[in-house]
Amino acid sequence: MKVLVLNCGSSSVKFQVIETSLEMIEADTDRTLARGGVEKIGLSDSRLTLEVEGRKPYQEISEILEHRAAVERILKILVHPEHGVLADVREIEAVGHRMVHGGEKFASSVLITPEVEAGIEECVVLAPLHNPHNLRGLRAARGLLPDVPHIAVFDTAFHQSMPARAYIYALPYDLYLRHGIRRYGFHGTSHRYVAIRTARLLGRKLDEMKIITCHLGNGCSMAAVARGRSVDTTMGFTPLEGLVMGTRCGDLDPAILPWVMAMEELTLAQLNAMLNKHSGLYGMSGVSSDMREIEAACERGSRRAQLAMEVFCYRITKYIGAYAAAMGGVDAITFTGGIGENSIKVRAMAIAPLAFLGAELDGERNTHAPRGKEYVVSRESSRVVVAVIPTNEERVIARDTVRVLGGVMPSFAAPETAAPR
Ligand code: ADP
Repeated sequence: MKVLVLNCGSSSVKFQVIETSLEMIEADTDRTLARGGVEKIGLSDSRLTLEVEGRKPYQEISEILEHRAAVERILKILVHPEHGVLADVREIEAVGHRMVHGGEKFASSVLITPEVEAGIEECVVLAPLHNPHNLRGLRAARGLLPDVPHIAVFDTAFHQSMPARAYIYALPYDLYLRHGIRRYGFHGTSHRYVAIRTARLLGRKLDEMKIITCHLGNGCSMAAVARGRSVDTTMGFTPLEGLVMGTRCGDLDPAILPWVMAMEELTLAQLNAMLNKHSGLYGMSGVSSDMREIEAACERGSRRAQLAMEVFCYRITKYIGAYAAAMGGVDAITFTGGIGENSIKVRAMAIAPLAFLGAELDGERNTHAPRGKEYVVSRESSRVVVAVIPTNEERVIARDTVRVLGGVMPSFAAPETAAPR
């Protein structure tokens, strides 16, 4: 079946058309027919892009004022006689939507019914910067494709299997009960996908493995995946917690916040901007939030870029140690995301101190890991396998769409280890 995957942000809609089915998932033969998106929605120079394998990328600049018009343009280009890949929009049999936050309501991907939509709406308070746009995209797509099923795939669902000891903050318990303040975790589709692929690459059973997955992109997070279930992850109530990221600080002494607000006379908005936009690699280095530029600055001898790199990698190393302890061991460590897949230096620096744990990189394999391929970068003798797996969140969304429709979607709920209410 052909599935349209949509990922809607505040001013963008990304899409893929993926041909998949339960048989194709099993045989790993599902494939992307087209990918692209609309950027700068709301401006006069919105950009529509379309990529189809074997063809020159297509792009078009025009005024696209809102999400419905963006989805409409996407559907139109998909059936374009010259540039498109479909003869008719009716070839699209289902739409898979990326939803950022499913709170405690959604521990699985689900068919979107009026009740589900109300549930997603209730989660807006937890992700005010993301869920409203995801919902806007859903409503636009449903208006244009009213006769096909729409499925929601949540960034948070995979981490719903975490035990309460991993997700409860040591704050007054009332805050959890009244406001749902707890750790949720994000990047769930990516962590789940690369864990499954790691087991497959090694020819082992996922439900017999302890895997630490490192998703390092502009946003960075790690997960401890034991027997196919997330038991801990670095992002928390919001994506700000945990690892150092491009512009986000990650873990912090919370007492710094009121202190710096008072000393610098910051407003709440300024504080938020400081933590989310002016920190991380960018804040420490003063150079860039982009790892390629940090690496180039390190080469030029910038001490602050080198320090930013050290802080970034040290935190990954620390969490690997923590997650090995959380799972009582580790069989594989997997790197993914723009940095995880491409930065030879980050993998080398993060893994170097872990020989004691049985994780040893093969310098040659790490340096020559082929781009875009699933690849083992540890030594033959390394007890812990270190792998690079390119992530593919759209593929998970398409696959989940098929799984939900086929009635075989697993749930990641863990009621037996849930917190008392
Ligand atoms: P997003 O989280 O927005 O999806 P990506 O997963 O594409 O982002 O990751 C972006 C990050 O990947 C940037 O920091 C970029 O510098 C880094 N990156 C991409 N290619 C390389 C490379 N060859 N070497 C080092 N870092 C890279």
